Amino acid sequence: MDTLHTDVTIIGAGPAGLCLARALSGTGLRVVLLERQGEAALRSPAFDGREIALTHRSRAFMQRLDLWRRLPEGEVHALRDAHVYNGDSPRAMRIGHEQSGREALGFLVPNHEIRRVAFEAAMEVNGVTLLAGVKVIGVERSDSKAEVALDDGRRIVSRLLVAADSRFSETRRAAGIATRMFDFGRSMLVCRVTQEVPHADTAWEWFDHAQTLALLPLGNATPRGHRASVVLTLPAPQMREVQALDDEAFARDIARRFHGRLGRIDDVGERHVYPLVGTYADRFVATRLALIGDAAVGMHPVTAHGFNLGLLGVERLAGELREAAEAGTDIGDPARLARFERGHRRATLPLYLATRGIVGLFTDDRWPARRLRAGLLWASDRLAPFKKALAAMLADEGAGRANAADRIA
Ligand SMILES: Cc1cc2nc3c(=O)[nH]c(=O)nc-3n(C[C@H](O)[C@H](O)[C@H](O)COP(=O)(O)OP(=O)(O)OC[C@H]3O[C@@H](n4cnc5c(N)ncnc54)[C@H](O)[C@@H]3O)c2cc1C
Repeated sequence: MDTLHTDVTIIGAGPAGLCLARALSGTGLRVVLLERQGEAALRSPAFDGREIALTHRSRAFMQRLDLWRRLPEGEVHALRDAHVYNGDSPRAMRIGHEQSGREALGFLVPNHEIRRVAFEAAMEVNGVTLLAGVKVIGVERSDSKAEVALDDGRRIVSRLLVAADSRFSETRRAAGIATRMFDFGRSMLVCRVTQEVPHADTAWEWFDHAQTLALLPLGNATPRGHRASVVLTLPAPQMREVQALDDEAFARDIARRFHGRLGRIDDVGERHVYPLVGTYADRFVATRLALIGDAAVGMHPVTAHGFNLGLLGVERLAGELREAAEAGTDIGDPARLARFERGHRRATLPLYLATRGIVGLFTDDRWPARRLRAGLLWASDRLAPFKKALAAMLADEGAGRANAADRIA
């Protein structure tokens, strides 16, 4: 029976796990990445419909990880402004890029491209070993080590285990870490289209009655129209009806749902549907274990912060591990892990709770909630400091503490 000894074992080669492997470059730490998907699917990930809105801070970190320059130019789109609509009102709360002091509030990048470049960059790191297409069948942890058993008989022994295996993390569950889960009872459909009316690089969030709509601008006009991604949130039974429509009927349905404001809808791409479940782990660390990415915090996508928070966690954990490696101390030191947890909880809990609150208020179709949100949007649109704060949050300048991960080679 083969036993592999390493420093860090990461379960899950999604965007978070891959970025952590890359962020440990130059530390001298040996990393084993375990992933249940096969290597071909990691090397060229399939389009999954998600257009990820990234903050300026995330872009800066991805630049330091040497990921950003690998993204195809035509797949990075500026998100200049954002408009928030409520019900039938044509008036929007407008959040302009100028309020953030930047040329754009953020950037839109397809998730499969993030996965692709993160894989490429992680595989270039000396000391990273990928075991793809594997199944974890057991995890044991003690004060001195973490041991993972695979179904092919191999065992991986390390000083630290990192769970990056999605919001439904099996590693987290096996460690007995309780997790707050909130099933919103709705599904989110994402799909690329072209629209007749120019989008002016502006994202829309529209809390309509019995549905939530979003529009994500995807760059310049083509001869066929203006490329965008539509995001439709509905209760699961209604979503099934929308999924059953053929492309033409779907295009008409979307045009109607947007009350004709986008003009004609064409070029319907692949539709992808995601169940909406928010998760927040009670603890981000345990003996010889740390959680990152969605395994720690699985956000509702409405505030577009899931992966942005994932990157924050990667940056923080990599910083701690780099410091420990440089000092020649234990990377699994409980005090160090506790510091990672405190920092990451402070950075994520307010936004997680605020997102829950926003979704609760803005999807409640009862009359008092509708009045309250109309009033809130009206007041917010007139409160310059509030809008400035919102723009800064969306853009997230990332003036946070200098981290040891800044020194990635
Ligand atoms: C519709 C939608 C829109 C979104 N929009 C945004 C946005 O605009 N901005 C933003 O910041 N975020 C957004 N997000 C969130 C973002 O996509 C996630 O936060 C991000 O993908 C999480 O990355 P991860 O690596 O933690 O997890 P995942 O992407 O879930 O990857 C986990 C990996 O672990 C592997 N794995 C799972 N279990 C095991 C196991 N037992 N053994 C081995 N491998 C395992 C999986 O195969 C996968 O490769 C959106 C999400 C959705 C659904």
